[in-house]
Amino acid sequence: MSAKLTILGAGSALPTRLNFPSAQIFELRDKQYMIDCGEGAQIRMRQMGLKNTRLNHIFISHLHGDHCFGLMGLISSFALLNRTADLHIHGPIGITKLFEQPMKFFCDGIPFAVIFQEFDTTQHRLIYADRSVEVYAIPLKHRVPCSGFLFKEKPKDRHIIRDMIDFYQIPISQLNLIKQGADFIAEDGQTIPNHLLTTDPDKTISYAYCSDTAYSEEIIPIISKVDLLYHEATFARSEALRAKKTMHSTAEQAATIARSAEVKRLIIGHLSARYRNQDVVLKEAQAVFEHTMLAADMQVIEF
Ligand SMILES: [Zn+2]
Ligand SMILES: [Zn+2]
Repeated sequence: MSAKLTILGAGSALPTRLNFPSAQIFELRDKQYMIDCGEGAQIRMRQMGLKNTRLNHIFISHLHGDHCFGLMGLISSFALLNRTADLHIHGPIGITKLFEQPMKFFCDGIPFAVIFQEFDTTQHRLIYADRSVEVYAIPLKHRVPCSGFLFKEKPKDRHIIRDMIDFYQIPISQLNLIKQGADFIAEDGQTIPNHLLTTDPDKTISYAYCSDTAYSEEIIPIISKVDLLYHEATFARSEALRAKKTMHSTAEQAATIARSAEVKRLIIGHLSARYRNQDVVLKEAQAVFEHTMLAADMQVIEF
């Protein structure tokens, strides 16, 4: 298993007995990426025994409190835990200025650097990449500038066919190139095509996070066929008007997006605190898109 998603908070603005505000950790090939950091994110991490040593990047979708009130607490606890590694916080334009004063006041002299990196929430662009993953912004429609995040795992190495490597006496120094798809040129000048030396790599995975947003068909091509889509479903059908007014989605709308984008699985979250019985909302989504599940705090989803 190379990827998993941990939901720290599945709720919306008002916390409930069950749900903290939005925060998640996406793990891929032994690295952690935090997505939104609602109040209590660090508490959930500690409750779950999640270490932070592999967490160097946090992605904030928008500057509403239920998606970023957890940042200051998390950063000051990291300082208490003697973190030294840089912490990068990717967020909408304006995030640096917004956190300038609280950072100065509460985090002066902490033993690590906090680096804010702003991106344009109106553009579907690559905002971060490393050896394992590419992260793209997904422009969303909300009351303030807001962006989802598409995590696309980078292609994995091809599998070496050991017998063929031995047969052609290929030196170890060439193996990395061959795993990446290169042909081998033998000493006598003969070219050994890569497909004789390797088999296809393992499948890569993709995850799209879309919260908060009004119904937006513009995101469909961006999230097409992802392995897992998290889409907000703040309201049930009966509150469709309120959803429109507040620029949120209903469960049916989230499921319609999932169906149109032909995603493999949909997970809905950010349900309004008014729904004591969340199953009603889930059923509305499942009527449109069968492979829908409900997000819950401290839930772990494997890819
Ligand atoms: Zn929200
Ligand atoms: Zn919001």
